[in-house]
Amino acid sequence: MKILITDDESHNRLLMEKILAPYGNCDLVVNGKEAVEAFEMALLDGDPYDLACLDIMMPEMDGQEALRKIREIEREHNIDETQEAVIFMVTALNTEEQVVQAFFRGGCTDYLAKPVTRDKVVEKMRQYNLIEE
Ligand SMILES: [Mg+2]
Repeated sequence: MKILITDDESHNRLLMEKILAPYGNCDLVVNGKEAVEAFEMALLDGDPYDLACLDIMMPEMDGQEALRKIREIEREHNIDETQEAVIFMVTALNTEEQVVQAFFRGGCTDYLAKPVTRDKVVEKMRQYNLIEE
C-alpha cells in the first residue's frame, strides 16, 4: 500500500508515519501544495496513492483545498469513485461545520479527530478495506 502523510507539524507527521509504516510505504509532505504535487506525480507515474491523510490546518495550502484539488486531478485522470484514493482528513477542528465541509464539498472518505491514535487509524483502515481482519 502506498500512503501519503501531510501535516505541517513534524511530530504529527512522525506519529502518523509510526502508525502507518507497518502497512505500507509512507511519503511525508508538509503542506497541501506538496500533497497535491506528490499525488499528481504518483498518478502520472502509474503508481497512485491508496491512502492519503490530510491535516486540515496548514500554511501555504490547507487540507480542504488540497482535498478538492486531489479529487479534481482524479477526475481529470478518469478515475471514478470506485477507484479513487481513500482520503482521511485529520483535524483538531472536530466541529460539525468542518466535517460537513470536508465530506460534501471536498469528497473526503472520512476524518480522524486529533489526538490520532493507532487504534483510531487501524479501525478506519479496516472500515475502508485497506487492511483485513
Ligand atoms: Mg496543522
